[in-house]
Amino acid sequence: MRFSVMTLFPEMIESSMNSSITGRALENNLISLDVYNIRDYSLDKHKKVDDYPYGGGAGMLMFPQPIYDCYKAIEERINAGDSSGKKPRVIYLSPKGKIFNQAMAKELSQEDDLIFLCGHYEGIDQRVLDTIVTDEVSIGDYVLTGGELPALVMMDTISRLVPGVLNNEESSQDESHSAGLLEYPQYTRPAEWMGKKVPDVLVSGNHALIAKWRMEQSLEVTKKNRPDMFEKYINSQQG
Ligand code: SAM
Repeated sequence: MRFSVMTLFPEMIESSMNSSITGRALENNLISLDVYNIRDYSLDKHKKVDDYPYGGGAGMLMFPQPIYDCYKAIEERINAGDSSGKKPRVIYLSPKGKIFNQAMAKELSQEDDLIFLCGHYEGIDQRVLDTIVTDEVSIGDYVLTGGELPALVMMDTISRLVPGVLNNEESSQDESHSAGLLEYPQYTRPAEWMGKKVPDVLVSGNHALIAKWRMEQSLEVTKKNRPDMFEKYINSQQG
């Protein structure tokens, strides 16, 4: 899995991706990351990347030229190492996009290359989006200052699904959202803390009972916190 990121703030992407589990995955070459500063591709003598919106309105918009030239440089680099001629998916992070979820992460984790385009200011000129973007994705119904955090959210989630990135392959299987339910409560040592004991069943050694208890807890927490998910799950079991 190779991530290429087009951004005005490369250091945000690099510092976060080089930490923790994604950092280890990069070191072990399980994923790779190329970060491109869109400003480097601006032909403006002051390296400007934004301008006023036609029709008026608040704020500035990123104009097409630096983004398109940056994209062409990435495309050339990818094509140099890949003779399949397959066009890589280009994801524009945008509050107007389709909402990101675990199923989308799973689907995207099958790709060899993903290009992320991070917007800033009031967004990006529509013409360049229409020219290069294949997927417009939002991480939720709120507006952030830029696409860097959403790109990091997506890359982190997708990286965890790349084989070998997590130490124990099982650890992404039972998790919240993987099977349409939220995860059951988890406990570690000590067996008693501030007078609160770990549920007896978890120390019983009876794996069938533990599995049953976990399923019941998953159903309960999903019903309480996400009735929409719960209903969908129950319907899928009946169908
Ligand atoms: N004017 C835009 C609108 O109303 O749709 C919002 C622009 S926002 C201030 C600047 C950039 O942040 C966007 O171009 C996008 O890349 C990113 N962004 C903001 N919120 C986002 C979200 N919920 N999901 C993904 N990207 C987001």
